[in-house]
Amino acid sequence: MLPGSPYVAYRDARLHVEGCALDDLAARFGTPLYVYSRAAMLAALADYQRALAGREHLICYALKANSNLAVLQLFARAGCGFDIVSGGELERVIAAGGDPAKVVFSGVGKTRTEMRRALDAGVMCFNVESVAELEVLSQVATAAGATASVSLRVNPDVDPRTHPYISTGLKGNKFGIAHDEALAAYRRAASLPGLAVQGIDFHIGSQIVDTGPYLDALDRMLDLVESVEAAGIALHHLDLGGGLGITYTDERPPSAEALVGALLARIDERGHGKRRILLEPGRSLVGNAGVLVAEVLYLKPSAVRNFCIVDAAMNDLLRPAMYEAWMAIVPCAQRNTPAQTYDVVGPVCESGDWLGRERALAVEPGDRVAVLSAGAYAMSMASNYNTRGRAAEVMVSGTDARLIRDREQPHELFRGEHLL
Ligand SMILES: *Cc1c(COP(=O)(O)O)cnc(C)c1O
Repeated sequence: MLPGSPYVAYRDARLHVEGCALDDLAARFGTPLYVYSRAAMLAALADYQRALAGREHLICYALKANSNLAVLQLFARAGCGFDIVSGGELERVIAAGGDPAKVVFSGVGKTRTEMRRALDAGVMCFNVESVAELEVLSQVATAAGATASVSLRVNPDVDPRTHPYISTGLKGNKFGIAHDEALAAYRRAASLPGLAVQGIDFHIGSQIVDTGPYLDALDRMLDLVESVEAAGIALHHLDLGGGLGITYTDERPPSAEALVGALLARIDERGHGKRRILLEPGRSLVGNAGVLVAEVLYLKPSAVRNFCIVDAAMNDLLRPAMYEAWMAIVPCAQRNTPAQTYDVVGPVCESGDWLGRERALAVEPGDRVAVLSAGAYAMSMASNYNTRGRAAEVMVSGTDARLIRDREQPHELFRGEHLL
């Protein structure tokens, strides 16, 4: 069994995503190539939907995890709203047919231009992260003759026990309003023109594999809800953020159904069961659904290390270089020859350009390998470093494969630049 998704598996020694062999897709679309399983994405969503059945709720897919228009379209059609963190992401949601009235706008550094556009588009709620932002949003809304619905992102100061770069709910983080300053911030929000307080939100980090930190954060948030309402400010929704982890190697995160079930049980116990529930999952909806396919260019043995040089690099997949993330790398066609240990690296001119270290692989030049669980924070973090065009993307459904993003061509990379 491969770690990650049941929709990515060997059949007759050939690696498939649903009913499509990755070697066939690579021959048809080239490499590096991102391939996503539609069924895996919908199954991940269904896991959340089951937990929330019968309750007033909205699942807002956090599209920074994977913002391809076809992925957004899939989730929009399945009833999702979206969690955005920029004006650019709002335009993507609209272009994909998503409903702005189901959008929550998060992020610590929203500009006035982004606020105005979001108000004009009619987003559902601004998740505000500072008192300074409240003041600016009030000015922008008043000038537009509009009312901005707001939720305050509260920093519960709990440790999600994940990588420091992806923990966001600790005191020293730039995110959210400190727990002990939140009541004053709500009072300020309620007093400002052009704002309507709607709810409260938290998001404590990403790739979290325990339920404990969520429950701690939830308890801290519910304490606050009680004091805010005692101050006469009504809160209509509870936004529990995202952050649920996935299996890259041997992690055992709770299922979405189990996690959300535990959170809802605590909410009910504490007498808050009537409130609307918002969730902002990103990684857990798409991460296991995707793979990155690369071709082996060269095998380069050396005295200390053997390198397997592939045509995908850190510009295509930054997670290993940025977070030291371990992602499984497996051949697209299994060979019966003995495996050798390789560092799997790309062509980019950085020693940090690696996809995996000390991996046992039986491969030859011209073979293809797949990096598994590459559906989240992978293509969406891709860059053009070394003037490398970004990879093509394909969505698979059964035996059907659709190109959902063209491979970038060199001339597109310097379009918009000017000679002196
Ligand atoms: C990134 C982010 C999410 C999604 O996090 P995942 O770990 O991908 O589920 C949700 N809410 C906010 C505010 C975020 O910044």
